[in-house]
Amino acid sequence: MTVAFIGLGMMGAPMAACLAQKQFKPRLFDANPAAIQTFLQSNDGVACASAAEAATGSDVVITMLPDGKAVQDAVLGEPHGAAKGMKPGAIVVDMSSSSPVDTEFLGRELTARGLHLIDAPVSGGVKRAVEGKLAIMAGGDAALIERCRPVLEAMGASLTHTGKLGSGHALKALNNFLAATNMVAVSEALLVGERFGLDPQVMVDVFNVSTGRSFVTEVNAKMCILPKTFTSGFMLGLLAKDVKIASELSDHLAMNTPLLSSEKDIWAAAEKALGFRADHTLVYKYVEQQQAPSKA
Ligand code: NAD
Repeated sequence: MTVAFIGLGMMGAPMAACLAQKQFKPRLFDANPAAIQTFLQSNDGVACASAAEAATGSDVVITMLPDGKAVQDAVLGEPHGAAKGMKPGAIVVDMSSSSPVDTEFLGRELTARGLHLIDAPVSGGVKRAVEGKLAIMAGGDAALIERCRPVLEAMGASLTHTGKLGSGHALKALNNFLAATNMVAVSEALLVGERFGLDPQVMVDVFNVSTGRSFVTEVNAKMCILPKTFTSGFMLGLLAKDVKIASELSDHLAMNTPLLSSEKDIWAAAEKALGFRADHTLVYKYVEQQQAPSKA
């Protein structure tokens, strides 16, 4: 099976490296040529000058890009989008965290061109991408997902079919809404506890054997917040985008979700204060900056 890989960023590069290790020899494109060169210094692959060139002759075209708009640009863009090079019946696999509404649009556009789309976003972060142990949630036609299984299993430890096209992207955005909410809640809890006189280390240890335990308390708090390293590898702007996607999905479905709305606002304000590229665990610092001096 010939595989094209578009988007060799923090996640895409280690994912494409897993494919290279499994002998797929991916055809590579990134808008930043340096990303391709860096990848080829330690991995096998074929450098391509455009998404269309990478897609030429490929059975599967993987996108790992910032959002659904970048995916549309890379796949449908004129004159060098991937769709220009794809053979009839080939499959785009969007592994980015895109908006499900954008995904439905892209699916219709590709169907009209005799091409296919599945969405297969991932969870697990850079560490699990390096290990090839991502959790993959795939939406779309079951037979198409089966055709892609060997490629997806080279990058993931689990592959769950979530339902119709766009359902993987919807589930991913909702998962990240939960993670983002927990990140803010843990930050607030630590700061309130600390001002009261609690030791943050003791707090996290107790959370981790109690009902407040979560990925944030077990991993992010231990590795990024308590040691004040703030190096999770996941940019704050990308998480703010995911919460916005979940909020827009709620609006699209005419739902009343006040917590989701307020999380969207908190993450947008944190992005404004700290910048898109700041590590997402720095939201702890943002919450800290919002506090008036202690009166105690
Ligand atoms: P990143 O910014 O490090 O990488 C994106 C790459 O895409 C860059 O190399 C950029 O040059 C390239 N690019 C952008 N637009 C392009 C275009 N039109 N054509 C070709 N290349 C283009 O981002 P990342 O952290 O790798 O995240 C990628 C996706 O994965 C995002 O949707 C993100 O939300 C999601 N995600 C990230 C993590 C994480 O921990 N970083 C975890 C799960 C999911």
